Amino acid sequence: MQVKTFKKGIRVPHNKRTEDSPLVECCAPNTVYISVSQHIGKPATPAVAVGDSVKAGTLIAAADGAVSSNIFSSVSGSVVAVEKRKTPTGSAVHIVIENDGKYEEQKLPPLKSRDKESVLKRISEAGIVGMGGAGFPTHVKYAPKAPVDTFIINAAECEPYITCDHRLLVEHAFEVLSGAAILAGVLGLDGFIIGVEDNKPDAIRALESAKAEHGIKCEISVLKSKYPQGAEKQMIFATTGRKVPVGGLPSDVGVVVGNVHTAYSVYDAVENNTPLYRRALTVCGGGIHEAKNLWVRTGTRYSDLDAFCGGATDDCVKIISGGPMMGFAIEGEDYSVTKTTGAILYLSRAEANVLQPKPCINCAKCAKACPMNLMPMYIDAYALRGDFASAKKYGAMNCIECGCCAYSCPAKRPIVQSVRLAKRKIKEAKL
Ligand code: SF4
Ligand code: SF4
Repeated sequence: MQVKTFKKGIRVPHNKRTEDSPLVECCAPNTVYISVSQHIGKPATPAVAVGDSVKAGTLIAAADGAVSSNIFSSVSGSVVAVEKRKTPTGSAVHIVIENDGKYEEQKLPPLKSRDKESVLKRISEAGIVGMGGAGFPTHVKYAPKAPVDTFIINAAECEPYITCDHRLLVEHAFEVLSGAAILAGVLGLDGFIIGVEDNKPDAIRALESAKAEHGIKCEISVLKSKYPQGAEKQMIFATTGRKVPVGGLPSDVGVVVGNVHTAYSVYDAVENNTPLYRRALTVCGGGIHEAKNLWVRTGTRYSDLDAFCGGATDDCVKIISGGPMMGFAIEGEDYSVTKTTGAILYLSRAEANVLQPKPCINCAKCAKACPMNLMPMYIDAYALRGDFASAKKYGAMNCIECGCCAYSCPAKRPIVQSVRLAKRKIKEAKL
């Protein structure tokens, strides 16, 4: 078996201690807090008011324009508030629903046709977005302006700890491959590549067997377990040998890259008429008593997940929404799960790397690790000096925020934070 990869990157401890933990249903809380901004683009407009009754699958906020996404209730019950609440990256309007415990469902009407336009419309009305974290509305991504000849499903899941995509592949390989085939059809292609790291042999076996049993036209591309194998440009290079130009997009080399969970949700929307209001996620880390893979309804608060997983340990010093490399450290647990929440990590002191940063010693380890061939130490230094024009000259905008530099840095410099700051300032000042 040929194992493919990309240049540079780093080896990280996988810590995937939930890889053999099947997805289990997380009991829904008494109240869910559903954000109207779970995607890139304009927030959805609330379509319900306090006192309204809803079912799981009722549209509660409608997409506002083309680059936006519908939002659905994840439980049955009644709307008790429409209010602004904080999110890991800012704040957003949330629709607060009291769960009546009946779990009555509201489905979308069955599709009358499977032509490209009807399927794209279904993806849009079901509120499907990129579920790997980006949250870009799927109906926009799969109507590309440039010609596409290759579609890749990114099943690398290279971030430590996270295993929910892995479990989807093991437990729902047919649904994932079928959803991917539907998306390939929307792109006018009759096959696709699925790139999966070689540390998931059970997932590879499940994919091979679903492919053979159902005659699904795809190439299962086995990739070396290396970080950030799941970054879009690195995935494209590893599976096709094509290089996305600096500052360019996958479409510049005729490629669209999709996500495992997005493919699963497309299958669910097209075949089962189910809109997106529930997802798989991983709760893990040495700071939680029972690490688990869960099916979770959107709007479930992190504190409810914590309780369902036996609570945080006394040694828990850091909570991260997302993976340890690209996620966001958060204060407290008063946040709710969205369509893009793939993991909540509770890190113990030993895992959290809470050392104080020291001055740069010019060792260049960050540059050696950077898969985008940047000089992170210079971007860090210029950003801290407030010289964002120079940070831009050193390629800050090409940073994919993978965290390889910070991970490799012996001085424990928080380089990704500096790069994120530089990117924000460059955009704000239109440098
Ligand atoms: S500079 Fe950006 S792309 Fe390069 S290693 Fe750091 S985070 Fe990754
Ligand atoms: S790895 Fe850290 S210490 Fe070494 S050059 Fe980069 S920023 Fe400086």
